[in-house]
Amino acid sequence: MSDATGRIWVMNKTMERTRETMATAVADLRSILTAGTLDTASRDDVLAFLIGVGDLHRQVEATLVLSTGIIEKRSATAERFDVSADCRNPNEVLQRITGAAPTTVKRWSRLAATIKPARTLASGEEKPAEFPALRTALTTGAIGADGLEAAARPLREIKDRVNPADLAEVDEVLAAMTTTTGAPVMTDTLRDLSLRMATDLDITGAEVEEEQAFRGRALRLGVKRNGLVPVAGQLVPDVAGALSVLLDSINNPHGQPTDVRFRPSDESDENADVRTMAQRNHDALGTILAAVPNAPDMPTNGGGAPVLVIHATEDTVHAGEGWATIPGADGTGTDVPVPFAAAKHVGCCGTIQRLTTSATGRIVKLTIDKRFFSPDQRRAIIARDRSCVIPGCHTPARWCEIHHVTAWSNGGKTTTDNGVLICWHHHRSIDHMNWDIHMNNGVPEVRPPDWVDPTQAWHPTGPRAVARTRRKT
Ligand SMILES: [Zn+2]
Repeated sequence: MSDATGRIWVMNKTMERTRETMATAVADLRSILTAGTLDTASRDDVLAFLIGVGDLHRQVEATLVLSTGIIEKRSATAERFDVSADCRNPNEVLQRITGAAPTTVKRWSRLAATIKPARTLASGEEKPAEFPALRTALTTGAIGADGLEAAARPLREIKDRVNPADLAEVDEVLAAMTTTTGAPVMTDTLRDLSLRMATDLDITGAEVEEEQAFRGRALRLGVKRNGLVPVAGQLVPDVAGALSVLLDSINNPHGQPTDVRFRPSDESDENADVRTMAQRNHDALGTILAAVPNAPDMPTNGGGAPVLVIHATEDTVHAGEGWATIPGADGTGTDVPVPFAAAKHVGCCGTIQRLTTSATGRIVKLTIDKRFFSPDQRRAIIARDRSCVIPGCHTPARWCEIHHVTAWSNGGKTTTDNGVLICWHHHRSIDHMNWDIHMNNGVPEVRPPDWVDPTQAWHPTGPRAVARTRRKT
């Protein structure tokens, strides 16, 4: 028996033994899950068990990543690993034997390509290994696929622009970090460090990235579907940062979640604001866009301030329900149908133009009803209400709209006694949010939904509510 054959025999022996061990481990895991053992295990047992599963998981991922690379390599040779396994390509081989999705296999393939071992090319040229230290971290199970991706992605982007020796040093530092403690390093930590070191190395890359990124910048409105217009795009980081600062300032002006109760606190910990962060961001964008046209020096549209126009027929306005339309509200640039609630919201503090046309389409009557509160009225209302009148909202006055408590269609006047500060979100949902607002001798009061206050009493809002709470305590 030659030396080479001997090595193959030893290797096959190890693979065979490992297959047996794995089969036992799989059967054990299966019985733990089917018996519900985890449900009743002690906290320490669950944690210790999962640490072991995590080790196994990373090692399994490492095996899959490296095996994908090997199967791809051997499929490119006369052996045609894929064809001889009756598959069209290496991806199909891995899908069939592991049950993984094509995108997952693609990810393994991408990661395998990231950490190529040293190799001799057909030309005889020696190619050094790529990220050999991270490769070792993967093969030894210090990191799994996520860890490798987090560490390697920033480096892949700069690898053609920086000194190979510097890159090798970063590879070493990142790999060393994966073994500093007994526990696996967190993916986010690895990504942050890699990104920081990559940007430090790649000074000139900033210019290249800026140039490429600037070409890719985009903001697109899609076509309205299921009542929503999809937005997609890619913002340059400073635009994204500016947007994110604005959204934050509106979403969380006090740096704390809203929490309003008018009943004993032991009964419930329900929160007044049940919106998701994404919904809050959406509403904050609505708030910004509603405030922008009134900002000084805004570009104009045909000589006037940029105004959102909503069309509704007289019948719809009388019914108070049905459809209105907004010209160009989505990517099609045509009239987009919107629920009348949107028209009501916009019309509450906008201009109502009533256009009567004859059967032939001639304009026979045009009336204009301006519903804007004057700057003086707005200042007075701000002084009285301070922020959105819905308790717990805290949206500051500068981001609030003014709501006609008695609607214009019911004869409500544009006076300080009929206007309250309200945020975009509460204004838009005023008809179905279950908070009622009324004026008590020119002072706004709110009636919360019954789950907030079972007594259904009217409560003062804003500075007066705070004063009242203080007096009580
Ligand atoms: Zn509000």
